[in-house]
Amino acid sequence: MTATNADFFGHPVGLRTLFLTEMWERMSYYGMRALLVLYMTGAVSTANAGLGMSPLEAQAIYGIYVGMVYFLAVPGGWLADNLLGHQRAVLYGAIIIALGHLILAVPIESGLFFGLGLVAIGTGLLKSNISTIVGKLYADDDPRRDAGFTIFYMSINIGSMVGFAICGYMGEKIGWHWGFGAAGVGMLFGVLQYARTRHLLGDAGLAPNAMPDTTRNKYRQWASGAAVLAAVPVVLFGTGVIDVQASVFAENFAYFLTTIAGIYFVYLYAFAGLNAAERKNVLLLFLLFVAAAAFWSGFDQSGGSLNLFARDYTDLNFMGFDMPVSWVQFFNPIYVVIFAPMFAAFWAFLGRRNLDPSLPLKFAVGLLFMALSFVVMLVAVGVALESAPIGLQWLLLTYLLQTWGELTLSPIGLSAFSRYSPKRYVGQMFGLWFLASAIGGVLAGLLGGEATDGGLQSMSPIFSYMIQYYLVIAAILLVLTYFFRGDERRASGPNS
Ligand code: GLN
Repeated sequence: MTATNADFFGHPVGLRTLFLTEMWERMSYYGMRALLVLYMTGAVSTANAGLGMSPLEAQAIYGIYVGMVYFLAVPGGWLADNLLGHQRAVLYGAIIIALGHLILAVPIESGLFFGLGLVAIGTGLLKSNISTIVGKLYADDDPRRDAGFTIFYMSINIGSMVGFAICGYMGEKIGWHWGFGAAGVGMLFGVLQYARTRHLLGDAGLAPNAMPDTTRNKYRQWASGAAVLAAVPVVLFGTGVIDVQASVFAENFAYFLTTIAGIYFVYLYAFAGLNAAERKNVLLLFLLFVAAAAFWSGFDQSGGSLNLFARDYTDLNFMGFDMPVSWVQFFNPIYVVIFAPMFAAFWAFLGRRNLDPSLPLKFAVGLLFMALSFVVMLVAVGVALESAPIGLQWLLLTYLLQTWGELTLSPIGLSAFSRYSPKRYVGQMFGLWFLASAIGGVLAGLLGGEATDGGLQSMSPIFSYMIQYYLVIAAILLVLTYFFRGDERRASGPNS
């Protein structure tokens, strides 16, 4: 809880610090991400030379990158919980991210792996821990918590809008590395802002978990050992001593992440010494986890297959101006900013009538929207097969549906992981929430690669397959909704 009473839109003033830090971090993340696949698949011979990779290989790298960004939130959460404290983890993370983007700004191909690696490590330290601090700004029974997360979610989207606009323009119209550099400069603003206003957070997330010094020292040794162990393969891959195809790596990474998630849930459920109510919450969070992973596997196509679809098959000329391809992604955050208040008001409206849908039901609706968005894409692919380029309206509608899905799932999931996680584990539980994004990200890279590898022809089968698994998971959630209704109400109290 904060030490100060001053406020930010009726919320603890520390929320402003977190809002602005996350805004700059997302500006840099999405700004660079929007360019990444375009840069990797761009022709080598043009003035703004790309790397000339195949869509399959490029999106595998993209998937590994997005997967790493979110996967590293797990060790990042652990480090903050046990050794660093969340506030310090965010600071270190922000500095490392800025460095990573600035390395990408240097126009040498070998910088790619190194720069992406640093951004992933930094985001691992920042992304989940900053959300943890948001949660810690509020007392457990503070009714403002959900609204706090909604405001925080705005910062994500304002940041990504700025990122798409500036990095997208500079990267595509001036030079890729200028776009990456702009992301780095944005993150530097975030670092300065955070360092200057961090005191407003008071003691929220300041100290790591209390524990005897001997335990902390043991943890410190584990952490150093793990860092050294992890560095070995990174160096071997980075220097090319071990050469593995990105798509093969991505596939194995997906299995690895799924296994880790499985083990962690089993551990929490069976061996973490939780009481019956906490275990039931873990089960609920597991369901949300599966749905979220599936959801992000569609959502993250925006930087991959949908990005390439925009470049290759969509007419982006707007009154004589050739819009940067990455600007198409701008519509997701814009829709979020427009619709988030409406969704929040709608949930509140239903809540007052005691009709607020259960969490699994909301997640099922999120997946249904995602399924619908790909139905729209199926039609769009059909139209493009007849005559390309097609109008922008198809992608606009796709992103609109995805955003509606996002709004029924993402801010709510974040808040649910804050509220239903066993207390001692809250930092790691945010890590787990982001592990769902990691799995989704790798799958997005793999599926997007397959979808675009054979041009338009290969899209329909992959998109149809995705629609099917969204529907299956949504159906399972709908059935299970029945079992969770009562408990969730009791656990969350009258204000949810
Ligand atoms: N758009 C949200 C963000 O950037 C969620 C992304 C995700 O979890 N995959 O925070």
